[in-house]
Amino acid sequence: MESFESLGLSEITLKVLKEKGYEEPTPIQQKTIPAILKGNKDIIGQAQTGTGKTAAFGLPVLERLPEKSKNVQALILTPTRELAIQVAEELNSLKGKKRLSIVPIYGRQSMELQLRSLKKGIDIVVGTPGRILDHLKRGTLKLDKISYLVLDEADEMLNMGFIDDVREIIESTGNEKRTLLFSATMPFEILQIAKNYMHEYDVLKVNNGQLTVSQTDQIYFEVFEADKFEALCRIIDIEKDFYGLVFCRTKIDVDTVANHLIERGYDADALHGDISQSLREKILAKFKKRQLNILVATDVAARGLDIHNLSHVINYSLPQDPESYVHRIGRTGRAGKGGNAITFITPEEYRKLQFIQRGAKTDIRREKLPKIEDIIRSKKLKIIDHINEIVNLNAQSCYLEMSKELMEHNKPEDLISALLQYSFPDELNEKRYVEIGDAVVDKKGKTRLFVTQGKLDGLTPRKLVNYIKEKSNITAEKIRDVQILDKYSFVTLPFREAEILLTSFKRRKKGSGLFITKAKKGRT
Ligand code: AMP
Repeated sequence: MESFESLGLSEITLKVLKEKGYEEPTPIQQKTIPAILKGNKDIIGQAQTGTGKTAAFGLPVLERLPEKSKNVQALILTPTRELAIQVAEELNSLKGKKRLSIVPIYGRQSMELQLRSLKKGIDIVVGTPGRILDHLKRGTLKLDKISYLVLDEADEMLNMGFIDDVREIIESTGNEKRTLLFSATMPFEILQIAKNYMHEYDVLKVNNGQLTVSQTDQIYFEVFEADKFEALCRIIDIEKDFYGLVFCRTKIDVDTVANHLIERGYDADALHGDISQSLREKILAKFKKRQLNILVATDVAARGLDIHNLSHVINYSLPQDPESYVHRIGRTGRAGKGGNAITFITPEEYRKLQFIQRGAKTDIRREKLPKIEDIIRSKKLKIIDHINEIVNLNAQSCYLEMSKELMEHNKPEDLISALLQYSFPDELNEKRYVEIGDAVVDKKGKTRLFVTQGKLDGLTPRKLVNYIKEKSNITAEKIRDVQILDKYSFVTLPFREAEILLTSFKRRKKGSGLFITKAKKGRT
């Protein structure tokens, strides 16, 4: 397995990565970082969001750009403003002390603000096509001297009807640049862009190989990031015999989660790359003896563990790719019994979960988190079981005397209640649990629409997007999966926006002009 050190990154960058808690490069980073750092060819990277692709192009580009330039040095085009902001944030956190200014430029943000930062001088512009084109046309942004052009999520830009804008932007850049094109899929139009606008290029992709998933019951819960810890506690508490690994993305997350668990009284510990070999062995020995029943770990630290009989694997953060999902959950399942693989996703991560499901060729079922009253009930049963076990093992004689004495003055049920209260002062208190908000993932919340015009009527993705924007006042990033066929077209909108649009059509009569209705199932 490659390390960040072996990819040729500078000491400064390595320090930043250590501080961020990244332990090792993701597969796409292993391929693109050396290629961008050392080579000079253009690059097509086939990678999904969530596979670490921002750092895959960001780290080497940040290393190669000089400070104190007078021009914009790199442009990163993204399909949505959320992604533009996210990419700019990630790059700012990766640049360390290097004096490079990185700014997101997107629609619906004040022009004034953007003009001011453009005047001051920006090294890396991260922007959405529409607004970048506006600035180019106004002459407030010049791209003729950039040395890097990154097209991020190129297929999404195509889906959203931005491809003509993208072409126009590419044409405004100079010839002395490297183009790095990232796309999850490679439709014809994207390959055409590569053919028409890129120099000699390498295609770098991550091979998922053959993935097989064991007999594991796989479920996911939708939770907000802030509720994840509570959700984890509920899952552990409802189980009779929890014995599991909890996976986090970074060392920092591992430490935080493990410390919180310990503070709350669980037998947990942390395992990651900064833990010395001798301590690691001690922790593992305790885990195997079940003195610990929860290990919080990074993927790296869990590699090579010969523990396979876990009751649970919990993906506290989603794994980077299908391969590591399969690898993580392969650890559950006790002889003869299936294990449980539980994945937490935040509302934004639904698409990444689908990508993992597809890649791992598996089915991950959605469930609701256990309710507080269910957990309390399960805890009561556990206590009763435990007490019965002790009774069967013969009560300790040293307690019998006390017991007789207590019985003389009290009713048995009062006595036992008092003893339970004495033993579990806080365990059965509902207030131990915090309410968890319902994180509704935006998936069914979308409507596929049918449009009565197509290519033969002169409709283009851009025209359709503009038309919908005008009619429903919605932003372009919410308009997805535009599909223009000869005689008709399809487009997807979030449920609420689709309703607004459809209502405006209800009032009109279907005539020869463009008309939009809900798409019928099976028609798309
Ligand atoms: P991206 O695919 O760029 O959206 O990245 C997905 C997430 O993975 C982001 O939260 C990154 O901060 C994180 N990430 C990227 N590279 C690594 C790495 N090598 N190790 C751990 N986390 C990473």
